[in-house]
Amino acid sequence: MATIKVHDKFFETYLPEEVIQKRIKELADTISNDYKGRKPLFIAILNGSFMFAADLFKHLTIEAEICFIKLASYKGMKSSGNVVTSIGLEDDLFGKEVIIVEDIVDTGKTLHNFLPKLEHQQPKSMKIATLLHKSEAIEYPLNLDYVGFDIPNKFVVGYGLDYDGLGRNLKEIYQLV
Ligand code: 5GP
Repeated sequence: MATIKVHDKFFETYLPEEVIQKRIKELADTISNDYKGRKPLFIAILNGSFMFAADLFKHLTIEAEICFIKLASYKGMKSSGNVVTSIGLEDDLFGKEVIIVEDIVDTGKTLHNFLPKLEHQQPKSMKIATLLHKSEAIEYPLNLDYVGFDIPNKFVVGYGLDYDGLGRNLKEIYQLV
């Protein structure tokens, strides 16, 4: 098990690259099966989900669209809770089969506050795919349709997730020691 330092904190390997990739392939297969002939639109939430979204998307065996939006930022190691409006959503969601792609659902506040804004546009359906879920930390009710890994309530970095801007490039996911 490798220990790394990001800024002032030490992290150790929690999910190795092969484990992450195998699970993402499984999720992509499930989604491809569930959405046969339906051409879903994936809406990936930046910055954290960019790697997950890319890997998930390339394993799909169905026709699908993808776009990226940006919401509130997460400063330091505690959720700021300030959800700003999305930047970059050009698509009209009316009648679309939407799948939101998140890196991690922690308290659930971000999506809980943001989903009604999307629902307002009357998509035909809306589901959530998240790579990580801290189920012990959930405070806001959310129906998570596709979950990669349920993880303990500990801060993680890597595979798109950062600690104050660093660590996103790591191929594995690391947990705070
Ligand atoms: P929530 O609103 O569900 O509490 O938090 C969701 C957002 O908080 C995620 O999209 C992510 O940006 C951030 N977040 C929550 N937990 C972690 C974590 O353990 N590590 C990192 N890097 N970000 C996290």
